[in-house]
Amino acid sequence: MIKVVVVGGGWAGCAAALSAAKAGAQVLLLERTDLLLGTGLVGGIFRNNGRYTGAEEAIAMGGGDLFVAMDANARHKGIKFPGHNHASIYDVITMEPLVKRILQNYGIEIKTNTRVVDVLKYGKKIQALIVDGGNEIKADVFVDATGTAGPMGNCLTYGNGCAMCVLRCPAFGPRISVTAKADVKEIMGRKADGSFGAMSGSCKINKDSLSREIRDRLESEGVVVLPVPEKLQKNGSLGKKACTQYAITEYAVNLVLLDTGHAKLMTSYFPIEDLRTIPGLEQARYEDPYAGSIGNSMRYLGSAPCDNTLKVETIENLFCCGEKAVILVGHTEAVITGLLAGNNAVRHCLDMQYLELPRTLVSGDFIAFVHEQMQSEIGLRMRYTFSGSVYFERMKAMSLYSTNRAEINERVRNVGLNEVYNECLV
Ligand SMILES: Cc1cc2nc3c(=O)[nH]c(=O)nc-3n(C[C@H](O)[C@H](O)[C@H](O)COP(=O)(O)OP(=O)(O)OC[C@H]3O[C@@H](n4cnc5c(N)ncnc54)[C@H](O)[C@@H]3O)c2cc1C
Repeated sequence: MIKVVVVGGGWAGCAAALSAAKAGAQVLLLERTDLLLGTGLVGGIFRNNGRYTGAEEAIAMGGGDLFVAMDANARHKGIKFPGHNHASIYDVITMEPLVKRILQNYGIEIKTNTRVVDVLKYGKKIQALIVDGGNEIKADVFVDATGTAGPMGNCLTYGNGCAMCVLRCPAFGPRISVTAKADVKEIMGRKADGSFGAMSGSCKINKDSLSREIRDRLESEGVVVLPVPEKLQKNGSLGKKACTQYAITEYAVNLVLLDTGHAKLMTSYFPIEDLRTIPGLEQARYEDPYAGSIGNSMRYLGSAPCDNTLKVETIENLFCCGEKAVILVGHTEAVITGLLAGNNAVRHCLDMQYLELPRTLVSGDFIAFVHEQMQSEIGLRMRYTFSGSVYFERMKAMSLYSTNRAEINERVRNVGLNEVYNECLV
């Protein structure tokens, strides 16, 4: 039986494991922490703006399981907040066990607390991975879904230091890239000012630390917008954020809170003594990162050079997905790349032609467009998402943005890819 090992259990790795299992492989998913979902443990927003189209496309292609799970576990649906329409928000506290069960139901073996620390290579092929403790794990093909966030050294060098985020590097050991260990030179994303990396764009406040009035409004409406006093407004920091879709004035002059289970604050960090001067936030306390007063995780430090099938350059049996494959922001974006990488990993073992998504689909155009952008210095300074900024503008200009399910299904059928991820290839 074909054996696929996926490294990294964020949304991208979960999707890659799922699509490889659906395509008929025996799949092992390795995750360095004790929980799946990676940065998805603290995100939660989906189906906003062009992410609706991306999710529906994946569903039409037979890769909808994870979106169906997000929908089923949504705290709010169809909400509006500055710059964003028809957003859903999944419950970040209860999402992980649900995803774990779905993957296990597909027969995927999941090993948490298992960090890949090295790669054994023979020529242009990976023979095995070495995990903490020294054990070797062999497979026919590998998927690098280790993301680009952290570790502490990067947060110190390019950010404000370790802010004690949900990735918990001090406890589980730093992120290690399979691609880099296979001696492939990685690509570094940049901030608008040209320096390396970008800071994650939101932090979470414990909901119980908000005033009763704000908490009740947040829970019933999903969103609360609070004006920020002029002396606390941080216009200059917007260009440093990972989430360029929120780098608009409304997020500098207001605090936007979203109900993800925690109160998600749509800014990278905010000094707690300043936060507590805002009416209703007098007792505010951070849930993630714990040091949300001073900073957040740094990302985009190490994407793999790969083609639009998501095969890593120069290594015959290595694919990649998520932030590792494309300078992307988003669970939806991570999932669509994961589905493709997992399917192509199985195709590799069967000597089949790799799947490359056509540019008439938003997922195909997104991967191809961002790869083109990543060729230039300026392109490396942007982050790409269906939910805003340059790529959402492009989606609209190219008439790729749609919230019409029948139309999206039709597009997928027109290119013969309906249910492609539900086909057993073996
Ligand atoms: C604070 C924050 C809020 C966000 N909010 C949203 C949101 O609301 N909506 C949205 O769509 N997007 C949001 N995003 C962005 C989104 O979470 C990411 O772009 C996307 O989920 C990335 O997924 P990934 O699987 O590529 O990487 P990651 O989520 O980084 O996952 C990588 C995984 O690999 C593991 N790993 C790393 N190295 C190893 C190794 N050597 N061995 C084993 N495992 C390893 C890590 O522990 C991690 O679990 C947010 C991001 C952050 C940081």
